[in-house]
Amino acid sequence: MTEPKLTKVDMEKIVSLCRRRGFIFPSSEIYGGLSSCWDYGPLGVELKRNIKESWWRAMVQERDDMVGLDSSILMHPQVWEASGHLKGFSDPLVECKQCHRRWRSDEMKDSSCPSCGGGLTESRMFNLMFKTFMGPVEEEADIVYLRPETAQGIFVNFENALNTSRKRLPFGIAQIGKAFRNEITTGNFIFRSREFEQMEMEYFVKPGTDGEWFDYWVKERLNWYANLGIKKENLRLHQHAKDELAHYAVKCYDIDYLFPMGWAELEGIANRGNFDLIQHANSSGKNMDYFDEETKEHFSPLIIEPSAGVDRSALAFLCDAYDEEPDKDEIRVVLRLHPSLAPIKAAILPLSRKETLAPLSKQIYADLRQCWMVGYDDAQSIGRRYRRQDEIGTPFCVTIDFQSLEDEQVTIRERDTMRQIRVPIKELQSTLASKLSGEDLFILPLGGKIWKEG
Ligand code: ATP
Repeated sequence: MTEPKLTKVDMEKIVSLCRRRGFIFPSSEIYGGLSSCWDYGPLGVELKRNIKESWWRAMVQERDDMVGLDSSILMHPQVWEASGHLKGFSDPLVECKQCHRRWRSDEMKDSSCPSCGGGLTESRMFNLMFKTFMGPVEEEADIVYLRPETAQGIFVNFENALNTSRKRLPFGIAQIGKAFRNEITTGNFIFRSREFEQMEMEYFVKPGTDGEWFDYWVKERLNWYANLGIKKENLRLHQHAKDELAHYAVKCYDIDYLFPMGWAELEGIANRGNFDLIQHANSSGKNMDYFDEETKEHFSPLIIEPSAGVDRSALAFLCDAYDEEPDKDEIRVVLRLHPSLAPIKAAILPLSRKETLAPLSKQIYADLRQCWMVGYDDAQSIGRRYRRQDEIGTPFCVTIDFQSLEDEQVTIRERDTMRQIRVPIKELQSTLASKLSGEDLFILPLGGKIWKEG
């Protein structure tokens, strides 16, 4: 028997698993795909929803100092002038004179084309915002932009949210939504695409307290990833040097993740100062100050912004959860996703396809569907079906066998330990509920997965 060969997770494996099992497809695939645009399939859409749900829960629902927002993608063009994006949101670009491929000049190591070795043009600034036209006439006056970040929708609604929610400082406004950037260099699967989703929160604080709130949010955000199972050794903080800071930022830390291609930004946490509110107040002529009831002072709040990407988080969660282990002469692929992120929470598996097991199995399937996304699989051997569920990260399988018809009990099998327990059918739902919430798992500590130290 030859030993199965286990290899480290690489991007190819993740892309292939995502394609094969219906997490992520190239956009418009039947037409050959569209460069760096991706479609989330039946399992991918659930993963993404769960990530957003976990973020919203932690950032909005569980907090008293937060409200949500869903602003439009198309905004008044003046927004982008005031925010500095029209002028400043650009990357330096060079083009190969031979093959006409474009490259970011600040990422180039030598002065010839990395693809064909041809000569390059002079570097010029290229604005990353997508332009389109509003209304039937395509003229300069009707240009609008697809938002390159969701944050500006929050700033322009600062007064609306403040006055209608009656919050006092410090408080935050959170938003999840699409953003678009005409990136010059894309790639690494969903790490950098031209259409993506952001989870952004702007936290408004009194001047002088911004330092401590910045530190607070860095910790909160790191904990969010760790609590959802990301291995601590795969996360690090990286402080932006002065010359790396965005035009609006006073201070910025990246939470980096060790992706298969190396360390790269997962989320940015910035102290934006009062740049945005002042710019919008000046540009719109509207007062955007805060009035402090206690001190009777008017001032412009300072802003701390944790800005995360849904797609980049999905990639990090997938890479971190990916695991292989020897299984006789094969390899068992397991996605050790945190139960709250797993697309399917439990799979109902009748031991055999025989008619006698179907009614009970289908009934259990119908009942559990009221609570969670659950799956049903009666094709091929039970071993194969367990493997299929392991590969997509399903934390629990529920097996119905002939004994179940007599003793009204079923077997729950755990993905991570592969251990099995027998439970009465009438306790199945409550048992799964407590296991899914992280309680009562055999050996799974906080985070819902086995932490492999070292
Ligand atoms: P990068 O330097 O990687 O382009 P950035 O510093 O420009 O990122 P921010 O403007 O800080 O990114 O955006 C906040 C978050 O939005 C990023 O941490 C990332 O998770 C996500 N994000 C930004 N650009 C993209 C993109 N092109 N594709 C996918 N996610 C993105």
